[in-house]
Amino acid sequence: MKDETLLVTAGRDPRADYGAVNTPAYRTSTILFESFDEFEAALHDPVRRKFAYGRLGTPTSAALEDAVSQLEGGARSRLAPSGLAAITTALTAFLSAGDHLLMTQGAYPPARRFCEAALTRMGIETTYYDPLIGADIDSLFRPNTKLVYVESPSSGLFDVQDIPAIARVAHDRGAIVVMDNTWASPLYFKPFAHGVDVSIQAATKYIVGHSDAMLGVITCSEQTWRALRSTHREWGQTAGPDDIYLGLRGIRTLAVRLKQHHENGITLAHFLNKRSEVERVYHPALEGDPGHSLWKRDFLGASGLFAVQLKSWVTRRALAAMLDGLKLFGMGYSWGGYESLAAPFHLSHYRPGLTGDDPWLIRIHAGLEDRQDLTEDLAQGFQRLNANL
Ligand SMILES: *Cc1c(COP(=O)(O)O)cnc(C)c1O
Repeated sequence: MKDETLLVTAGRDPRADYGAVNTPAYRTSTILFESFDEFEAALHDPVRRKFAYGRLGTPTSAALEDAVSQLEGGARSRLAPSGLAAITTALTAFLSAGDHLLMTQGAYPPARRFCEAALTRMGIETTYYDPLIGADIDSLFRPNTKLVYVESPSSGLFDVQDIPAIARVAHDRGAIVVMDNTWASPLYFKPFAHGVDVSIQAATKYIVGHSDAMLGVITCSEQTWRALRSTHREWGQTAGPDDIYLGLRGIRTLAVRLKQHHENGITLAHFLNKRSEVERVYHPALEGDPGHSLWKRDFLGASGLFAVQLKSWVTRRALAAMLDGLKLFGMGYSWGGYESLAAPFHLSHYRPGLTGDDPWLIRIHAGLEDRQDLTEDLAQGFQRLNANL
């Protein structure tokens, strides 16, 4: 079955819900057992019974888990209340005191902070590596290296990682590969076909797709599933039924939305690439981007998120004049909704330890609006920028 068909059919069983097309939001804590025998059996083997208590899963959570597992190409999934909760659950499922973790410098900054704070307290050591390291990651392994964390393209600067090369080395060394696959979504990158063992989605972004819920998903291979399932239970991770419902509602239209995000993103990237105020566009689907050939080899499309670096002479005041007057681009964290966003960052936000010049970047999320309306809004923004230098 092709992805477009899976998006419509996966995790849906109308016969189980009186013919209702959508799996309803099951709002429940208590799930009643039919007999003493059944109750006792569930107590002794909680995993065997599909639904035993709201925190452990409902038909609503199972529907989304099932759909995402199939799309990612993994075996089983679990939901978490946010993308970050999915990341922290996955890391702690496979790391113990005394273990060593290899973490990409391009990771989502709150994931890096989790390593620096919580994992350090737990006695787990992190080494950050250059996202472009490829097979040379071998030299960073220690006898106690258990996990390699990848995120491709990286947060902020959109470096594309050679995931198959990194995964080959990790597996030779007896480590697993955990990936943040939020940028591409399960439609545009197939993590398990590229050697990844555990894949994470901040479903808050494209799966929910409408900027109205927080949600995370962790998808596992057969080999990694048991450890993840246990840790997920031990931490008491659970997502709310209404948020999961919004994830299910969103995922049905993921393919058509992503196509427009892809096209709008590339149109805006080309437009920005030609502007004299722009030093560099960070978008792997652009020919000439350092990650372009790997992106073409491994990815099936591009999402709407990318960044531009402005010339060093662009002042804060000029940038504020540009951004404050934009009509179609909102300024905010997060992305993946239907709406366009433009958020200012310093380069050092994504390059910790950067010395010298620290130019402004604008992180752009290309929403679903008309392409020409979006480029006109940006063109008027550049007029304001130039008038306020
Ligand atoms: C937003 C984001 C997350 C975290 O998701 P939340 O739902 O906000 O916790 C993780 N990874 C990436 C790449 C993200 O953009």
